[in-house]
Amino acid sequence: MPTGTPACDLCGQDAVFLDRVRGCHLCGDHLLRDVEGRVRRTLWDYHLIRPGERIAIALSGGKDSTALLHLLRKILPLSGDVTLSAITVDEGIAGYRDATLEVAREMAARLGVEHRVVSFGESLDAMVAAGGDHPCGLCGIHRRRALRRAAMEMGATAVATGHNLNDEAQTVVMNCLRGDVRGFTRPQPGGPREGDLRRIKPLFRIPEKEVALYGMIAGIFHDLPECPYAGTALRSEVRRMVDRLEYLRPGTLGRIVRGQEEVAALCGGGVQGRASRDGDPEEQGKG
Ligand code: SF4
Repeated sequence: MPTGTPACDLCGQDAVFLDRVRGCHLCGDHLLRDVEGRVRRTLWDYHLIRPGERIAIALSGGKDSTALLHLLRKILPLSGDVTLSAITVDEGIAGYRDATLEVAREMAARLGVEHRVVSFGESLDAMVAAGGDHPCGLCGIHRRRALRRAAMEMGATAVATGHNLNDEAQTVVMNCLRGDVRGFTRPQPGGPREGDLRRIKPLFRIPEKEVALYGMIAGIFHDLPECPYAGTALRSEVRRMVDRLEYLRPGTLGRIVRGQEEVAALCGGGVQGRASRDGDPEEQGKG
């Protein structure tokens, strides 16, 4: 009996997702396989993870980083020589971080991954109360430092973050709006080299909606509070703009990111242009 629900184009089961870019319906099982396959290809295409590496996952406890941990734990050859660990940065944001910390601890324990929680020293709430008027700018700078320090102490060779396709497209647009030539021409998704510690983004080709659906179907999605400072970031305005463009013209997010990649390649992997004084937008507003 037809259920009235569109059928998966691959198996005929009830679909849970319409991919408006590729024009196909997928059931839950095929969505999981599709996302895992694309992350595998991203790792391969960009040589993101190398034999013998120790990867530290920046595990905020939100939907992207928990999906990243789950995915890497599943698709990396764990009996091989790549080691996973996780780091959670507690920024000191009352009413927000406690819930995500709990999820991060539970996920790491469930998957048997070494997990470390680090803090800024002075809480972000205290910095804001003392007059810090760009919470996300402050947070981004301190979080990057805390992550880097912890990753180096843990002997990591790369930090993996949960940035998805929407995040990447937003960052490209933010760099344009801020006239940040250096950020705009930076090669993705490996990002800048920081000494011997690379930053990698295995989810950068997966749209946010698909990451969230992946988490729900895999049973790892948690409905968590939003950071109270999120609305103050330029990213929240850019997010509304690019989401609307993606809705009106499916594929816009991918075109923005691929366009930036081509510009970075033409520039030989980054130029020494002017950087914005507001810090790196990659880290900002992405609680
Ligand atoms: Fe930090 Fe993200 Fe909150 Fe901004 S939205 S303050 S970057 S956790």
